[in-house]
Amino acid sequence: MEKSENLMEKIVALCKRRGFVFPGSEIYGGLANSWDYGPLGTELKNNIKQLWWQTFVHARADMVGIDAALIMSPKVWEASGHVAGFSDPLVECKKCHQRFREDQIGGVCPNCGSKEFNEPKQFNLLFPVRLGPTEDSSATAYLRGEIAQAMFVDFKNVLDSSRVRVPFGIASQGKAFRNEITPGNFIFRTREFDLMEFEYFVKPEEWEKWFEYWRGEMHRWLIAIGADMSKVHEHEIPDGERAHYSERTIDFEFDYPFGQKELYGLAYRTDFDLKNHFADAPYKDPETGEAYYPHVIEPSFGLDRTVLVSLLSAYQEDGERVYMKFPPRIAPYKAAVFPLLSNKPELVAKAKEIHAMLLAHPLPTAWDDRGNIGKRYFAQDEIGTPYCITVDFDTLGESHEELKDTVTVRDRDTGKQERMKISELKNFIAWKTYA
Ligand code: ATP
Repeated sequence: MEKSENLMEKIVALCKRRGFVFPGSEIYGGLANSWDYGPLGTELKNNIKQLWWQTFVHARADMVGIDAALIMSPKVWEASGHVAGFSDPLVECKKCHQRFREDQIGGVCPNCGSKEFNEPKQFNLLFPVRLGPTEDSSATAYLRGEIAQAMFVDFKNVLDSSRVRVPFGIASQGKAFRNEITPGNFIFRTREFDLMEFEYFVKPEEWEKWFEYWRGEMHRWLIAIGADMSKVHEHEIPDGERAHYSERTIDFEFDYPFGQKELYGLAYRTDFDLKNHFADAPYKDPETGEAYYPHVIEPSFGLDRTVLVSLLSAYQEDGERVYMKFPPRIAPYKAAVFPLLSNKPELVAKAKEIHAMLLAHPLPTAWDDRGNIGKRYFAQDEIGTPYCITVDFDTLGESHEELKDTVTVRDRDTGKQERMKISELKNFIAWKTYA
């Protein structure tokens, strides 16, 4: 089925109405391009983070994780090349004086259409912060502009405290901060955002093999989060356009409603970073005793862009019905429980029992006893709840003894209902939504 027009507007509206994403600082008139994740968006985002950690750290023998400070010594960013080179070309329109990132506008002012700009200046994206009560410039530090540096800076500590051997990876998740010239497009480009990344350390001569391997794994991940793969494209970044640390980069791009743009990056960072931070080769081959600088493959996953792609890919219209076809693993709720009628205490009591049983499992489960069943299905479809469980008079065994202690379970995608024993519910939902 063809996806609807104005998809972006529909997603932004649905996100606000149902509590996925709200405009930041809204009651004070908002803060441009800042967004808060609401109750359901937080669940979706956390589920994606957990699935990522499960996939790339817990399920592997060759990966360990760290959780590093957001404010790092300014020396890190000097050594890494970010103070000198982490910048975007800033141009100012001569006519309307608005400022833009030169590589994003194709020579035409998006505001007034003029083609005349001042000479581009390099604008550094690092956010300075002042530490402590002094005005002294030596107390200036930076919020991290990428999360990768900690995985290089902590490299020796990880080696010395764990049993990792090349090839192995160090993974991390968390916020990065960039003073973007032109943020925008909802959660696509903001000044603070969440990243999920790992640095995978390999023998220098094996980098190409691992680059291909991680390229394949990134595809598998995209399938796992339900990305519409017909909209995913790989883009090889040519010489001269790559980040200062990279010898090869492939961007994974997505057809967003506002154009084909970057979703993830896969970079071959060579030994650039370890050489910047360590005067002596930090790794010794346990077999040959040779000391060397491992080379690095870095798959980089923007979490907010992942949330956006999962929302855009999940959105389905089916006649009157809108449903979010999230893979059950990342859906905010795994199930919802309803009493057929809210004014029948026996039905409500039984439904509450089932709700409590699923919550205790623990399976995130919604409760709804408002309006009619059709409206409740509609409301759960719109937030992507895979299964709706209804307690009716048959559950109480009022007319058919053989149906006692059974409920209806409705499937989000097909709309089909089946009857199931209450005693089977827990395993069924768990198996279907965590498999
Ligand atoms: P762009 O060219 O879009 O500015 P980039 O090439 O600078 O991105 P990287 O440095 O490769 O981006 O960052 C790694 C990942 O972080 C990107 O693939 C993207 O998913 C995410 N990302 C980068 N900048 C932002 C931002 N301002 N807001 C949200 N996510 C971002």
